[in-house]
Amino acid sequence: MPSIRVRFAPSPTGHLHIGGARTALINWAFARQQGGTFVLRIEDTDVERSTEASFESIITSLRWLGLEWDEGAEKGGSYGPYRQSECFHLYKSEAERLLKNGNAYYCYCLPEELEERRKLALKEGRPPGYDRRCRSLSISQQESLSREGRKPVVRLLVSESQTIVVDDVVRGRVSFGPGIISDFIILRTDGTPTFHFANVIDDLRMRITHVVRGEDHLSNTPRHVVLYKALGAEPPRFAHLSLIMGPDGARLSKRHGATSVEEFRENGYLPEALLNWLALLGFATPDGQDVFPISDFVKRFDLSALGKSAAIFDRGKLDWINGTYIRNTPAAKLRELCMPYLLKSGYDVSEYSDDALGEIIESLRGNMAVLPDCVAQAAPYFKPIETIIEPEAREYLKSSQSARSVISGFVEEIKKRDTICATDVPLIGKALQKATGVKGKDLYMPIRIAVSGRLHGPELAKMLPILGKARCLSRVEEVLAMQ
Ligand code: GLU
Ligand code: ZN
Repeated sequence: MPSIRVRFAPSPTGHLHIGGARTALINWAFARQQGGTFVLRIEDTDVERSTEASFESIITSLRWLGLEWDEGAEKGGSYGPYRQSECFHLYKSEAERLLKNGNAYYCYCLPEELEERRKLALKEGRPPGYDRRCRSLSISQQESLSREGRKPVVRLLVSESQTIVVDDVVRGRVSFGPGIISDFIILRTDGTPTFHFANVIDDLRMRITHVVRGEDHLSNTPRHVVLYKALGAEPPRFAHLSLIMGPDGARLSKRHGATSVEEFRENGYLPEALLNWLALLGFATPDGQDVFPISDFVKRFDLSALGKSAAIFDRGKLDWINGTYIRNTPAAKLRELCMPYLLKSGYDVSEYSDDALGEIIESLRGNMAVLPDCVAQAAPYFKPIETIIEPEAREYLKSSQSARSVISGFVEEIKKRDTICATDVPLIGKALQKATGVKGKDLYMPIRIAVSGRLHGPELAKMLPILGKARCLSRVEEVLAMQ
């Protein structure tokens, strides 16, 4: 068996879509699992819609995700060029070969003529595809059409009677009955290749053994299969991955929120979490674990056992997974990730020492789903309580019988000390309990509210030492005055 070669073949007409990222992940993981080669090919034959900015953005997103390719754009390899825009001459000469051996022919029909005949065919209940009119033009007929100023396209000659069967790795046997495709265009009037032609020529040229791509390309596959045959080659194996759908069952689009990897990155998702979540679509670990390193997925996943039904985009699950990764991020790294958000937030970070800023970020990690959450979570360290107190917290203070005496007691305890360190916090609690007779939640909640304005947040043992004596006192006084 030759070693496995797979490719990811994006068209650079926008950012890397989350569905594309999943296709890239599966190709990458399959190559890694099988000791094969992962190729990145850029399908930019549509010169109008392809942009350099999209190319850069796709490459940046793949690298950010850690889906490094072995061969291809920006990397080189033995089967280049890896950008289709650099290969127009190759497609032309392959088309000429097909013309020479009778597998393709020139078609001089004008678009408006084709459209007219298509309408008529529909009206008369015939198949609306190309009617093969130019299949048997003689050389002199071709010449006279040329003289009329018509520029021909090149069409592939497709036998009418064949049934095309694709043994898809994911979907099993899929058969396409006779007449489903007619003689389709491989080269346009300007000599540029169609998507189908360039795609197949390149998969052949790059010795691709497995074409792993989105299910939206399944309907293109019969065309590709006949192209391989016409070119005298065996088709590769195909694996068509189910698409990602929004929770409403419609194909994932802008109205479901972020859809590009770039947006997820900007919204504070970690690459490892996004990969983990993408890996989970259509795959389950034997022990039902939702969070696992991508190396586990590479080891365990089975291309032929990936789910056939649509994968549903579940943002709640993604957030949960991302939160788990945030909790497990080493302190220095988390700080590096959060600082830009805190700096942008407008908080006066100079109020705290470098060490204290590190501790602040540490104290937030348990309550974050995405990185920008650090801003709201850190508010109690930077903003006056009055501006951030939650209505529920206000309500709590109002309705609690003992809150006021607990808070006053807390002020006394703080005043007794020069500084507050983590070990002081339980001592303060004990002293307060003794003085007020209140314990548990009734004791800690008023304090939490008095220093942070919130019912939930970082542990008091972390928060109080970071805030320090002076800030604690001024906040508490603010809250007492508010009531
Ligand atoms: N350029 C195609 C796309 O972006 C990929 C086709 C394929 O993977 O065969 O959808
Ligand atoms: Zn024609």
